[in-house]
Amino acid sequence: MENLWAPWRMEYILKKKPSESSGCVFCVQTPDFVLDKGVRISAFVPLTQEDVERLVVCRGQEVFVMLNRYPYAAGHLMVIPYRHIMDFTELTVSENAEIMHLMQVSCKVLGRECKPDGINMGINLGSAAGAGIADHLHFHVVPRWAGDSQFIAVVSDVRLIPEHLEDTQKRFALAFREIIG
Ligand SMILES: [Zn+2]
Repeated sequence: MENLWAPWRMEYILKKKPSESSGCVFCVQTPDFVLDKGVRISAFVPLTQEDVERLVVCRGQEVFVMLNRYPYAAGHLMVIPYRHIMDFTELTVSENAEIMHLMQVSCKVLGRECKPDGINMGINLGSAAGAGIADHLHFHVVPRWAGDSQFIAVVSDVRLIPEHLEDTQKRFALAFREIIG
C-alpha cells in the first residue's frame, strides 16, 4: 500500500508510536468520570496531549472518535468504545446510544469540513470480515465523493491523503466541540 502524498509519514516513522507501549491502538485512557457510576457529565470532555498525538478528535463518556492513521479517504473517522471488547453483542445500551450519537455527529462534522457527496458507515467484525484490528470494536465513518471509487479502482493500492493528519485532527476536534456544544 502506497501513499501518493503523505508528509506525516516520515514523522510517523521517526516517532515512537504511543500505541507501542499500550499494546492496542484503540485503547486510550478512560476518563475518570466513567469509573464514577451514576455521575454523568454533559460538558465537553477536553482532549489530552496524548489524544492529540493519537489523532483522537472527540471524547464522549463511554465512546470516543479518532481519525484513521491509514485512511481510505481524507477525513476517515472511527467511533470506538473505551472498553477493549471484540464482541459486538457485548455493547451496553448506553454504549450503543453514544456510538450512534457520535456517528451522527461525525456525519455533521464531515458534512461541514469535507463536503462529501456520500458517506460509508459500518463495522467489520473479525479479521475474516476485513477488520485490521479485530480485538477492539470500531465503527468506520468514511466520506466519499462522486467518482472516487472509479479513481481508486484505477490506481489500485494507492491512497490519496491530501492533508496533513495533524492539521485534520485540529480542525475536526474544533468542529466536534462546536457541533456538540
Ligand atoms: Zn483496545
